Amino acid sequence: MGKDNKKIAKKLKPAKLVKATKKEVVKAVKTERKTKNRKEAVKKELEPIVLQAPRGMKDILPEDQPYWEQTRRVTEKLARDYGFSRIDTPLVEFSNLFNRSIGDGTDVVEKELYSFATKGGDKVALRPEMTAGVARAYIQHGMNVLGKPVKLFSTGHVYRHDRPQEGRQREFYQINYEAFGEQDPILDAQMIQVATRVVQSLGIKAVQIQVNSIGCPVCRKDYKDLLVSYLESKSNKLCVDCKRRLDVNPLRVLDCKEDKCSQVAASAPQSVDHLCEECRVHFKNLLEYLDELDLPYTINPRLVRGLDYYTKTVFEIWSGSEEGRKSALGGGGRYDGLVKLLGGEATPAIGFALGAERLIIEMKRVQAKSYKGLKPKIFLAQLGEMAKKKSLRLFSELEKNGILVAESFGRGSLKSQLRVANRLGVEMTLILGQKEALDGTVIIKNMISGEQETVSSAKLIDLVKRKLKNDNVVVYHDNHDNH
Ligand SMILES: [Zn+2]
Ligand SMILES: [Zn+2]
Repeated sequence: MGKDNKKIAKKLKPAKLVKATKKEVVKAVKTERKTKNRKEAVKKELEPIVLQAPRGMKDILPEDQPYWEQTRRVTEKLARDYGFSRIDTPLVEFSNLFNRSIGDGTDVVEKELYSFATKGGDKVALRPEMTAGVARAYIQHGMNVLGKPVKLFSTGHVYRHDRPQEGRQREFYQINYEAFGEQDPILDAQMIQVATRVVQSLGIKAVQIQVNSIGCPVCRKDYKDLLVSYLESKSNKLCVDCKRRLDVNPLRVLDCKEDKCSQVAASAPQSVDHLCEECRVHFKNLLEYLDELDLPYTINPRLVRGLDYYTKTVFEIWSGSEEGRKSALGGGGRYDGLVKLLGGEATPAIGFALGAERLIIEMKRVQAKSYKGLKPKIFLAQLGEMAKKKSLRLFSELEKNGILVAESFGRGSLKSQLRVANRLGVEMTLILGQKEALDGTVIIKNMISGEQETVSSAKLIDLVKRKLKNDNVVVYHDNHDNH
């Protein structure tokens, strides 16, 4: 007998003054449980639903979609043009993938990770960026046997439990390009070229590229020692966070946004001055390639990027305008040690990510054009029960033939349907009335001249197609490319 059962048995006793049988107790327990569940259910029902997306998360409404569509089209096209294949990985990964790759001492893992245990007891986290998951997939699926470099493209939501502000949400959308298996700096230059091409193709013409080299594990160790001893000598001038970073992640002190830390960082030793021969040559060659490409770059010695896995080249893409300089549109770098760190074979790699929300904020600011969807040139109107039924089929016939049609089937009167047609600015309206439905005909009304003609339904599709062509109107196809 469980604890609950004993309690209920006790309750039963004084009332009945007899020893409750086991059956009675079980029944009483069941009743009590039912009541409790019902009470909880009622309580749940009464709890008001907050009609709001969670903090730091946003709906992307239909009116904003033309910008998103433009972003999708441009980023996918450039991925194809530069030889990237698409990959999609789960939103959720085992937490330790991020702890190991991004680094325990980083803000992303330490403060901002959405991590939780599943009902099965797995420790998982929502991805805070995409590179770790893509690298995990690269190893898991043995992509090391593919021709190098293996170029992978992915897009999707990522999550960081950060303080929300303009251009910085908790749920945001990243566009991600990675290349595995090539160590030549020409690839670094090409990745920077792709990032720049994406941003400029979206209409953000004034672009600034910031580059830096943070060295390899060999030269970074010496540099880190040097940096730490410099920072320790100034530690009384650092913010609380940076005092802590001194031990776990001293490079991060360099990109701290606090004024006093910036001042200390300004005269700190720079990684580019302490590169080993291999890293120095790599960086020098990269800069030569960028010159060759006429890409306007600035060397920013304080650019370190927040994540532990970077080696050698790091870069960020900024909007070139003064106003847009508050936040980078994206960035990335080389991570030659990551695949091996995660358990794969040693594989040099480089990648970058762009933030879709930031790109779109900037597109709007510079009034870049967004994607214009195709508008229907034809309206289908119907009158009467029989015609209404037939028009549903006719609509589908037109659609199957690649003809974009608008309708307002719910409206009864022809007058109100024609009002909708006028508002949409269509070029012709097909009218199906009771008589036409019986005769197997359709009226074609030219909305500009007002002329009408009656044609047989059998010939309608061909006729409409011909008219649309004559009007210089493009017939819609799935593969129609509008940029
Ligand atoms: Zn080095
Ligand atoms: Zn600081």
